[in-house]
Amino acid sequence: MSNLEGQPAEVELPVETDAAPCAELLEGRDVPLGRYTVVRRSLPNKSRRTVGAWCFLDHFGPEDVTGKPGMRVPPHPHIGLQTVSWLLGGEVRHRDSLGSDQVIVPGQLNIMTSGRGISHSENSPSEKPPILHGLQLWVALPAEERDRAAAFQHIADLPELDDGAARITVAVGELEGARSPATVYSELLGADIRLAGSTGLRVRPDFEHAVVVTEGRARVEGVDVAPGSLLYLGAGRDRIEFAADGAARLFLLGGVPFEEELVMWWNFVGRSHEDIVAARDDWMRGAERFGTVPGGEQPLPAPGLPTTRLMPRPRHRRL
Ligand code: MN
Repeated sequence: MSNLEGQPAEVELPVETDAAPCAELLEGRDVPLGRYTVVRRSLPNKSRRTVGAWCFLDHFGPEDVTGKPGMRVPPHPHIGLQTVSWLLGGEVRHRDSLGSDQVIVPGQLNIMTSGRGISHSENSPSEKPPILHGLQLWVALPAEERDRAAAFQHIADLPELDDGAARITVAVGELEGARSPATVYSELLGADIRLAGSTGLRVRPDFEHAVVVTEGRARVEGVDVAPGSLLYLGAGRDRIEFAADGAARLFLLGGVPFEEELVMWWNFVGRSHEDIVAARDDWMRGAERFGTVPGGEQPLPAPGLPTTRLMPRPRHRRL
């Protein structure tokens, strides 16, 4: 167990049993996304629903979209979250009800804050590169921020680190002294790591961490990780060791464990059944809360609600 920097050696972190260092390899599952593509979903997972405030993680591709529509996600709403779009290949055009119209390419970040309501579409441009590959993540907004105004931020230039064995882009938060300009509302880390050897990264012991591999295979803290699964590392670490025999690419997630219980349903993150019912009703009746996405595409209808009440859930399965 490590101490926080600048703390006397005898002061230990007040970790709970579930916040100690661990190495749980959690299997993702395949989920159809629209009519054209399948994604691997790592969060929420059966046993771990969040890593810090990261509450959703889809890995799509690499897929050859030559002669195909590519990404086709018509206008749909969000509440209570931020969407983080990270491309490894291809291009995606984001349009939202604030009027944002932004093509994203690999190495850039799109981060959209839904606050109490926004809608957006995500489509491959008509002229597109052959390979589509990326991550779609959501960040849960804390209770005091979840009703804030919607916002959209595009960041073309992110800080990079290079130690010879790894080239790292800090997409969200701070790592090894490099800080992303992305606006987030909890203590959070998201970093892309291109690995060609062995390296160790200093991390915050008050964060829990997890890793997905997006290309190749890697060993993280001695555990083999390949695309499709999420390695949950717990909290209480001050360093994470990475190694790859060939080239590998990973995404490192971290954050202060998110203690609020969430209700996640469709594209909504709320705190109660009533939050979700109200958001669904507002979307279906075209309420002003969600605005209109330019482009004239038919919006996605919400699915039917389950017949049982949606229950708030903690960040991990109750032990
Ligand atoms: Mn979306």
